Amino acid sequence: MKKLLILMMTVIAAVAMLAAGCGGGDKKESAKVFRVGTEPTFAPFEFQEEGSKEYAGFDMDLARAIGKQMGYEKVEIVNMGFDALVPALNAGNVDMVAAGMSITEERQKSVNFSDPYYTSGLIIMVNKDNDTIKSLKDLEGKRIAAQIGTTGDNKARSVANAVVTSFNTNTEAAMELTNKGVDAVINDSPVVGYYLAQGGNKTAKTVGDVMEAEKYGLAMKKGNDQLTADVNKALAELKKNGEYDKLYQKWFGEVSK
Ligand code: GLN
Repeated sequence: MKKLLILMMTVIAAVAMLAAGCGGGDKKESAKVFRVGTEPTFAPFEFQEEGSKEYAGFDMDLARAIGKQMGYEKVEIVNMGFDALVPALNAGNVDMVAAGMSITEERQKSVNFSDPYYTSGLIIMVNKDNDTIKSLKDLEGKRIAAQIGTTGDNKARSVANAVVTSFNTNTEAAMELTNKGVDAVINDSPVVGYYLAQGGNKTAKTVGDVMEAEKYGLAMKKGNDQLTADVNKALAELKKNGEYDKLYQKWFGEVSK
């Protein structure tokens, strides 16, 4: 019995040493894990399937593929509020942000962006029975919901006399519309489209056109030019070897532009 115990402990210790990469040089554990920050109420880019803690979506698959392409052993997804992502990057708590984050001049002052990887734009969502709101102009003096710190939030705040409520998650913003606590939601068009297709269209609809194009970029700490170059290289490789198109097809069902 005692011998068996010793044998078992030896095996466990050996496995643990292997797992820790002992004998594999002095590469630090942290160097092998690529930490990616996101806010997962943004399907089909990042979300958690009901009852699952796994992170699914285009950005999540892309971030994992990029990490692998750069030689990391593991990509760890870190969940936080959208407005916490840039501070987390600059505090060094995450290495990259993959969160459907639009490349804006304002954000470029505080982070490095990768090359654009997706073209998006904002759209207005209202309740199905609303036939008075047809454009941004019609939102003047109305109640609008958006996610805190997003371009949709900024757009809502640019509307004259609008009362804007900024929610931590997109889920809450959409719920507020269903509950008629607001007259409209402003969010990214592909995310609204996905929400409607998943059953949101029972109560909601979009109005007007997609507002001016926004491009999503992966974000890195300001001044981390080496990582930015590595991410761009990995992204280009994934575009070249067909992996990017495969992911695009998987999540959007069409070939990338
Ligand atoms: N693309 C929008 C932005 O950058 C929204 C992103 C999001 O809600 N995850 O602000």
